[in-house]
Formats: sequence, C-alpha cells, structure tokens
Amino acid sequence: MVDARDPIADLRRIAFLLERANEATYRVRAFRSAAKALAGRSAAELTERAGNGTLTELAGVGDVTARCVAESLAGEEPVYLRRLVATEGSDLDAEATALRAALRGDCHTHSDWSDGGSPIEEMALAAVELGHEYLVLTDHSPRLTVARGLTAERLRRQLDHVAQVNAALPEGFRILTGIEVDILADGSLDQDEDLLGRLDVVVGSVHSGLKDELSKMTRRMLKAVANPHLDILGHVTGRMVSSRPAGVTGPGDRGHRARTRAESDFDADAVFAACAEHDTAVEINSRPERQDPPKRLIRRALEAGCRFAINTDAHAPGQLDWQRFGCERAALCGVPADRVINTWSAEQLVAWTHRRP
Ligand SMILES: [Zn+2]
Ligand SMILES: [Zn+2]
Repeated sequence: MVDARDPIADLRRIAFLLERANEATYRVRAFRSAAKALAGRSAAELTERAGNGTLTELAGVGDVTARCVAESLAGEEPVYLRRLVATEGSDLDAEATALRAALRGDCHTHSDWSDGGSPIEEMALAAVELGHEYLVLTDHSPRLTVARGLTAERLRRQLDHVAQVNAALPEGFRILTGIEVDILADGSLDQDEDLLGRLDVVVGSVHSGLKDELSKMTRRMLKAVANPHLDILGHVTGRMVSSRPAGVTGPGDRGHRARTRAESDFDADAVFAACAEHDTAVEINSRPERQDPPKRLIRRALEAGCRFAINTDAHAPGQLDWQRFGCERAALCGVPADRVINTWSAEQLVAWTHRRP
C-alpha cells in the first residue's frame, strides 16, 4: 500500500507552476477551482469518488483535474505535475539540443517545383550536410495557385524525378516523397486519392478560409484528420506571429507575404483527440513567423496523447536548419523524443505512414 499524496497540494502546485510559466488564466483557474472543490472533503470520500469515477460530479472538477487527483490519491506524482516540474528550471538548452540531435529527418519542405527557392537536389544536399537521413519533399497542392501547387500530372512527374535524384545521392540518405496538401473547405484533401496513397508522407494544412467560424473549422479539420491518407496535421492554427524574418525574401517565399495573422478558431481538444484516435501527428512548425501551434496547444496535444513532427516547412536550403526553434518550443512543453515521429528512421517512418490499409 503506497501512501496517498495530498491532491489539493498537488493541484495548487500545478496552478502555481502554470502561472509562473505565464499560461492562460483559464487553465490556471481549472486547477485552483478543483482544489477549492476538494477542500473540506474527507480522504475516504475522495478515494471512493476516484474509484467509481464520480470526481467530475463535483462542481469545478474536470477530466484533467480528476485524473490528477486520482493519481495523487494512488500515491503517484500526477503526470501533469511531473511534466511541469521536469521542464521547470531544467536546462532547456540541453533538452532542446538533445531533441534536435534525436531528429533524423524533416517531414515538411518545399522546392522550386512549388513556391520554394531551390531545386530538389540542393535541398537534399543541404539536408545531407545537416546530418539528416531523409528529407520529405512536400510541395503544395493544385488549389494553392499562388504557391504554384502541383497538379496531379506534375506531381507524377516529380515522383519520377525524385527517383532519379535519389539514385545519385549518397548512400544512407534519401528523399521521401510527399505533399503538403490543402485541406479544402469541406475537409477533403486537394489531390487524387491514388496519388496520396502512393506518397511516403502526407502533410495536410489549412491555407484558405482561415477565418471560418469555430464549428465549421472544427468539422473541416476533424474530417481531414480522419482521412486515412493524412499523416501530419500542418501548422495547426495558421497564425503568423511576425512578419517574415530578416533575410528571408525573394522567390524562396512566394506566397508567404509579410503579415501577422490571428489563430483560427477551432475546438482544439476535439481536434487533438481525433489526432490521437487516428494516430495523426501534430506538426510543431519551426518557422519563426509561425511558431505554430503555440505552446499552450502543444501541451494540450501532449495531454491528449498525440504524436508530433518537428518540421521546418523550409522554402530554402538554409531554412532546413530552423528545426532548432521547433525543438526549443517542444522542450519547453516537455515533449519527449519518443513522441516525435521524425526521430524515427526512414524505414520506421514509412512503415508508420503506411500503417493504415
Ligand atoms: Zn509555401
Ligand atoms: Zn503550409
């Protein structure tokens, strides 16, 4: 028999650490309200409620806080608290560096076949120099005309071209085929079904109608996440936190004009639950002007049990080195390497993307 911890103290400690990390007020409040709801109740009552799943019947106690309470009563440090403690005051530099070192490839990159600035060969050579074992080429899909999205026919030609380029690249490195496919207004994906099935990796992103109202955007994203072809949900909120970084101009970023943009409205918990259910990875987009998803949403995706892909969304060779930024944000949120799909080898990655019939 393990001694129970004090669940109220654990909830208050979590609230304190969230506040110190400048998290959204409503998240802090969830833990403080739960602590208040528990105050004055006997350990016996709480243990019984944890046992029969009725903690959430107490006003102020939700699913996440109930889980924390049950863990405390079982004598375990709540997972939520452990994660906050693990990341607080630790050497984030070292953690981010370790995460970056664990990455073996990049799952979101563009070439001059769409709106990137360089040929596929150059992107590949830069990836080899960075020590990657693979690079997933994910040029845009047809409807994104501003980015010269590839028609089905051009994508087929690209697949032949990639096969040739691969034959000439150093042993131990390969370009994986892929696409950044637009998630259309109705949640369908902007490319032929058979082609999506042939590709090694499919990243799906919303690039239009970013101001859709919450229920419409949620439905749209849920439908895409449930699509068996979709492997990674790209830059989830669509936000732009700054104009594009200094030095990033010219054809390499056609279609990525300098501007800021608010996050799209969608039910993040529903979308992340669906990502966990369908085993669709959530992208941590490393672009400095995107930083998408924001940290509070990375934490929620982590709680929901999602996998992640730390990608650069590079439109030029030098941008392939931006993974570091994504790793820093992932480390701040306590994302462990074993939840990140691009820590896998190319073989493991492709086995996973083809996991669905
Ligand atoms: Zn682009
Ligand atoms: Zn995109």
